Amino acid sequence: MPLLPRRFERLKAVLNRRMGDLSVLLEQVDKPHNLSAILRSCDAVGVLEAHVVSLPGRLPTLNCTAKGSEKWVPLHRHSSTPAVMRQLKDQGFRLFGTHLSVDAVDYRHCDYTGPSVFLLGAEKWGLSDEAIGLVDQAIVIPMVGMVQSLNVSVATAALLFEALRQREAAGLVPTQGEGIPAGRYDSLLFEWAYPQVAAWCQREGRPYPALDGEGAISEVLPRTVKLRY
Ligand code: SAM
Repeated sequence: MPLLPRRFERLKAVLNRRMGDLSVLLEQVDKPHNLSAILRSCDAVGVLEAHVVSLPGRLPTLNCTAKGSEKWVPLHRHSSTPAVMRQLKDQGFRLFGTHLSVDAVDYRHCDYTGPSVFLLGAEKWGLSDEAIGLVDQAIVIPMVGMVQSLNVSVATAALLFEALRQREAAGLVPTQGEGIPAGRYDSLLFEWAYPQVAAWCQREGRPYPALDGEGAISEVLPRTVKLRY
């Protein structure tokens, strides 16, 4: 089925607002409804991609709570917390680790307008000591109720929307795709518009075909390649 021009415009409008410099790193968060709700919040805010460190042999699983957001926010899987933290730091990200302690700073008092990653911990234990030791800033969402902590997906949403609020106030939310790392816009748009063709191109080791102004593939593909999106 060919892509409708209206659908193509919508894909572009969403991609144009994606922010490659805002992300989350989930350390052993593994309940499907939590991972799914987190990805849904990432999509709502405009996060380009998310990260999870999972226990050996445990694949991150999602459920219907994600509402399909996993198609739009890839969840990159890692096996070592310190390794991925160092990698993100090397990429210029500032790492904000959620920590329910008196030493942590109220999350509203930090600046998330620069490249920022929020670290969220496991449902039962929170972030590991190793992760806490490597964060740039420990933050907390102040709690005044009887219960000590929020659900991890709720905490993620609060943090992401605060980052979005700050970026909107500073006029830093991308509107024309400038939040996408250089050289990736066209390939991401192609993958969003034609995931099956993109997968086929990857298997075949060939570049994605060009799209015309209305989002149609301007190349004749083998009949066996499905054009569904
Ligand atoms: N007993 C755990 C602890 O002390 O960290 C509680 C874990 S909590 C249910 C799961 C995750 O949600 C935490 O690791 C943190 O990432 C996030 N979280 C929950 N409440 C939070 C709060 N008030 N401020 C910041 N993050 C919070």
